[in-house]
Amino acid sequence: MDFNFTEEQRMLIEAVDKFGQKWQDKGEEIRERTLKEGVFPRDFWQEFADQGFIGALIPEEYGGSGMGLFAQALILETLGRYGLTSAMMMLTAMDALCVLRGGPDELKQRYLPRIASGEEIWAFAITEPDAGSNAFRMKTIARREGDKFILNGQKTFITGVDVADRVLVIARSMTYEELKAKGLPKVGGFNVLIVDPKSPGFEMQELNTEGIEGLRQWTLFFDNVEVPAEDLVGAEHAGILPMFNVLNAERTLAAAIGLGGIDLMLKKAVDYANERVVFGDKPIGAYQAIQHPLAEIKAESEAARMLVYRAAAMFDEGKNPNDIAPYANMAKMLVGEISIKACDRAIQTHGGNGFDRDYGLIQAWVNTRLVRTAPISKEMILNYIAEHVLGMPRSY
Ligand SMILES: Cc1cc2nc3c(=O)[nH]c(=O)nc-3n(C[C@H](O)[C@H](O)[C@H](O)COP(=O)(O)OP(=O)(O)OC[C@H]3O[C@@H](n4cnc5c(N)ncnc54)[C@H](O)[C@@H]3O)c2cc1C
Repeated sequence: MDFNFTEEQRMLIEAVDKFGQKWQDKGEEIRERTLKEGVFPRDFWQEFADQGFIGALIPEEYGGSGMGLFAQALILETLGRYGLTSAMMMLTAMDALCVLRGGPDELKQRYLPRIASGEEIWAFAITEPDAGSNAFRMKTIARREGDKFILNGQKTFITGVDVADRVLVIARSMTYEELKAKGLPKVGGFNVLIVDPKSPGFEMQELNTEGIEGLRQWTLFFDNVEVPAEDLVGAEHAGILPMFNVLNAERTLAAAIGLGGIDLMLKKAVDYANERVVFGDKPIGAYQAIQHPLAEIKAESEAARMLVYRAAAMFDEGKNPNDIAPYANMAKMLVGEISIKACDRAIQTHGGNGFDRDYGLIQAWVNTRLVRTAPISKEMILNYIAEHVLGMPRSY
């Protein structure tokens, strides 16, 4: 379906289409290699970056293309149609945005060009064993000692640390008890640090997760990891503030990736259904039991696409993060739910072949299903909508 894109957006989509066509047959191989050998396809990433695709959120003065969130969303959505998106694209883009929003300028000058040029891939670490949905309970702490921070604690479920050059770590700057004693607000008392995973005292242990898009998850242990003071993002004790608007961008990008995935699932299902003949000479695609669920997914996904684009456009217009959040959250939740349905229907349409890895559906199921849980769960989004959009009491 057509959308009222600008000429610039059309050209961008065309460029991503070309890139997607070139790499589409390698998607499965890339994921398998990353998962089994821990080797991330740097040639793929480099070509992606060379086209300006990873630096859309990074202004030109820092080496990016400065096209904005709508453009970054279109890039990932389009790439999703080729089954080529990687969580590292979303994580790196959101980390770059955090550095951009948090500063200081010296930090932006140092790291943003490296991200935009494809030289560095970044992971993101906020989740802890006792602080998943409630990040405020985190215990990992980074205290300043002269010209460095000393990082201690643990993170878990952190994606792609084995292939990342840096990890953006959200830590406390003081314990919760110290924060309370000082009468500081809940959002105070955080330090956001750029951490080199090769630093002494930085250990990682692989989790037994199924892996998303070929990427493994890790528990990280920080034992007196020294981080240079100049690798602090934003102000000391207030580092979490730049994160807030970044989360809207993260949710919008997660939704954009999902939109591309839905289109891919629909295409696979329709192509198969129109070919496969089981009874008489009609393909299974002629049966309404096969058609209707796919048609419903198409209608729902076009509606969700409007939400994704609205959230992205509001972000680029510099709207208040609190005004963007309802759209970004709803977009992420709806796309997540429709993606699950789309993948399930694509599997069902393929009969037994839906379980054959060669058709690429059963692997996609794990990636798709994850969206209901991460980066934010469906329940936490519904909590947000009930409380902040509908004005109902907080339930927890
Ligand atoms: C494959 C994978 C990759 C990941 N990658 C990263 C990463 O790169 N970086 C990172 O920091 N984290 C990552 N995560 C972590 C992910 O963001 C968390 O798993 C997610 O936020 C949920 O946190 P939790 O697992 O602690 O669940 P919990 O917070 O323990 O929640 C468990 C269940 O209870 C529900 N629940 C909790 N509180 C409420 C409430 N108040 N009301 C209603 N329901 C509630 C939740 O919705 C969920 O269904 C990843 C996770 C997975 C599985």
